[in-house]
Amino acid sequence: MTDVFIIGGGPAAVSCALVLGSAYRKEFASARKITLLAHQKASYLQDALLNNVYGILPGTSGKDLLHESLSHLQQTYPHVEIIHNEKVTEVIRLNAGFQIKTNENIYLAKTVVVATNSTSAFNIEGLTKYIIPHEKSIPSKNRVQLKNDNHLVDDNLFVAGTLAGLPSQVSIAAGSGAFVATEILTQWNNGLPAHSHDSIKK
Ligand SMILES: Cc1cc2nc3c(=O)[nH]c(=O)nc-3n(C[C@H](O)[C@H](O)[C@H](O)COP(=O)(O)OP(=O)(O)OC[C@H]3O[C@@H](n4cnc5c(N)ncnc54)[C@H](O)[C@@H]3O)c2cc1C
Repeated sequence: MTDVFIIGGGPAAVSCALVLGSAYRKEFASARKITLLAHQKASYLQDALLNNVYGILPGTSGKDLLHESLSHLQQTYPHVEIIHNEKVTEVIRLNAGFQIKTNENIYLAKTVVVATNSTSAFNIEGLTKYIIPHEKSIPSKNRVQLKNDNHLVDDNLFVAGTLAGLPSQVSIAAGSGAFVATEILTQWNNGLPAHSHDSIKK
């Protein structure tokens, strides 16, 4: 069983994985298993051209960012497991944790983060009961979000990015994923607020 299973391969999901992966030196995080199911085909980034994202060179294509962000994760935090080319079809709550079904496999996790974006095509069984109309999108677009309280949908079930009901900007989605990561780190730290920083000062 993995400690945290992140669903999605866009800015929210990968940012969440980066912050969780970076905490490996902390005692409360060092033995934790982190898994990212990095499906990217349906990312809003596929057709984007980015000129307004903090830290990203103007003119970067969304496609390149998708590719580079996964390489960043893989190279910097190789202990984070990345699953490619699978799509989640169902999330089932068990007595302890969750069972995640994909088109190819079944996984077990203690905590799940859903970051699959705000499209009305959202159809992951077991999670559709949490869908409500998106609160920060034009109604005619029929976007959806998962009902949440500060990114928490239900016990040990988090949502991040546009699916959390946030406006559609890369920086916001990435920040949302990073926020969820710090919430999980805080849980692992017995409720004591936690974040993960590196510093040039030793
Ligand atoms: C044409 C266009 C141009 C844009 N330009 C800009 C811009 O200039 N600046 C800016 O800041 N923002 C821009 N955006 C918005 C930006 O792309 C989004 O805000 C951002 O990608 C949202 O991130 P996210 O992680 O919430 O969702 P996404 O990036 O959409 O990621 C969701 C991920 O979930 C995966 N997924 C979906 N269903 C499943 C499933 N069942 N199982 C597993 N994985 C699944 C998808 O494949 C995808 O990788 C643009 C968007 C579009 C469409």
